[in-house]
Amino acid sequence: EPLVVCTDVARTYGKGPAAVVAVHGANCVIAPGARIAVVGPSGSGKSTLLHLLAGLDRPTAGQVDHPGLARGPMARQIGVVFQGPSLLPPLTAAENVSLPLCIDGVAEDEATARAWSALEDLELASLASNLPDELSAGQAQRVAVARVLARRPRLILADEPTGQLDRDSARHVMAVLTAASDALGAAVLVTTHDARVARALRIQWYMADGRLVQPERAPREGETR
Ligand code: ADP
Ligand code: ADP
Repeated sequence: EPLVVCTDVARTYGKGPAAVVAVHGANCVIAPGARIAVVGPSGSGKSTLLHLLAGLDRPTAGQVDHPGLARGPMARQIGVVFQGPSLLPPLTAAENVSLPLCIDGVAEDEATARAWSALEDLELASLASNLPDELSAGQAQRVAVARVLARRPRLILADEPTGQLDRDSARHVMAVLTAASDALGAAVLVTTHDARVARALRIQWYMADGRLVQPERAPREGETR
């Protein structure tokens, strides 16, 4: 079953003549394990779409369903990497990663072990005891990715995860997201305005002025349309 199905989804901000239609008429399906880039310029509605897919925002029209997710808290099954700094400043990198696990009810020892293991996967073990303001933007973004991966979500939604990063850090974050998709069997959707970042992912969707465009997949040999 698909993890997400969007049917004629729209999201309008505000009312009357000042209303902004951030997303309109979006139809899409995210299958388990899919790797999708949503490419479009700033203001095209990528972030709004991502929040709708995550269930963090409600459409003003249409429907977002999550048929492939188990009942219960969606936050445990959908990991969101937010745009910009999102770590809690008074906590170390390791504590930032383990806190959500503790909130999920994982015992403290196991949460700590999983946090360290996720940080190791992202080559951040040596920075585990650092506070967020002792990390570079790229390192902090990788900690935010580790925080999501440690929860072992079935769907990872990352909003411009490379937006603030230099090219090497950007590549590293994209490599880690695709590796995590392999290791966890998780679907990954990344929004970006950078076509090079998008190329790291198998499927490309485009967004322009609130409209989602999915180029038709070329038929395989022997396949009829
Ligand atoms: P992107 O992620 O592609 O930059 P957004 O989804 O952030 O696009 O924004 C799409 C449109 O919706 C833009 O015109 C933006 O100004 C507007 N918008 C986004 N969030 C809000 C909000 N909370 N209130 C009003 N308008 C918003
Ligand atoms: P060139 O130096 O020839 O322009 P790049 O170094 O930009 O090539 O890109 C080399 C490879 O790295 C390409 O496969 C490209 O898709 C990928 N790539 C480039 N920039 C990024 C990025 N910011 N994030 C992820 N992958 C990238």
